[in-house]
Amino acid sequence: MLDSYKRPITYLRISVTDRCNLRCTYCMPEEGIDWIPHQKILSLEEIAEVARVGARLGIKKIRLTGGEPLVRKGIVNLVEEISAIEGIEDIAMTTNGILLPEFAKDLKKAGLHRVNISLDSLDAEKFQKLTRVGQLEEVLEGIQSAKEAGLEPVKINCVVTPSTTTKDKEDLKTFCNKEGLELRFIQEMSLEKGEFSVVEGGEGGNCSICNRLRLTAQGDIMPCLFSSSGYNVKELGIENAYNMAVALKPKSGHSNKVGSFYNIGG
Ligand code: SAM
Ligand code: SF4
Repeated sequence: MLDSYKRPITYLRISVTDRCNLRCTYCMPEEGIDWIPHQKILSLEEIAEVARVGARLGIKKIRLTGGEPLVRKGIVNLVEEISAIEGIEDIAMTTNGILLPEFAKDLKKAGLHRVNISLDSLDAEKFQKLTRVGQLEEVLEGIQSAKEAGLEPVKINCVVTPSTTTKDKEDLKTFCNKEGLELRFIQEMSLEKGEFSVVEGGEGGNCSICNRLRLTAQGDIMPCLFSSSGYNVKELGIENAYNMAVALKPKSGHSNKVGSFYNIGG
């Protein structure tokens, strides 16, 4: 698939759920979240079918995200189904890591290649404040289990917020060097305000080479994180939704008034 700016579209990021076991301050409000009703969320079979059709149209890389992908029941089966699709060369996951001790080995066996784990600070108190409910120790155990399971390279995503200090960054750099992890810093963004930034150490944020589409948990294929347009696979049919999203992918997005990080998946 080539979009109207001749960018090849080969990468699909799938948000498998908007639910999460953390409440990071930059991502979700503490309460009062309008969860997507269960009956509107795509089933695992529907997600796998979107991936299959995508592979036929030229998608080669898939990332599972959320919300927290590991709170979605049946996630290991979904990985297994997607990894069996001909043409999918790379399958990765972005996770907060809390449930990796439980799932890492099975995910690897099911065909997951690698994980990105979100970790914003190695200061336990600060980590808890940022995530509202998270325990640093659990994420550190998650990182170890990903390494032991061979879900490599393990990449660490650190969101840089106004409370991030030089020490936080330096401590993360030292930790990642020692543990053989790749570290990426992501500036806190606001989708609504169109505050967008390039990912340090990653590919995100460079519109001229953007090869991505996103599938939300309720089945909208979104051509751009910073645009409100979405094309629903149930309403339009899967192939048609892909074609519309690709045809209408903007040169670069400005703002997104309908989505949040936790339902688009970052
Ligand atoms: N729950 C998983 C996790 O935290 O890794 C996956 C979903 S999360 C929405 C995906 C990525 O988006 C994470 O790396 C997270 O840190 C990032 N993110 C969330 N809100 C953000 C914001 N306002 N600005 C920049 N990145 C954000
Ligand atoms: Fe959950 Fe990830 Fe959002 Fe944190 S960033 S609240 S872990 S979805």
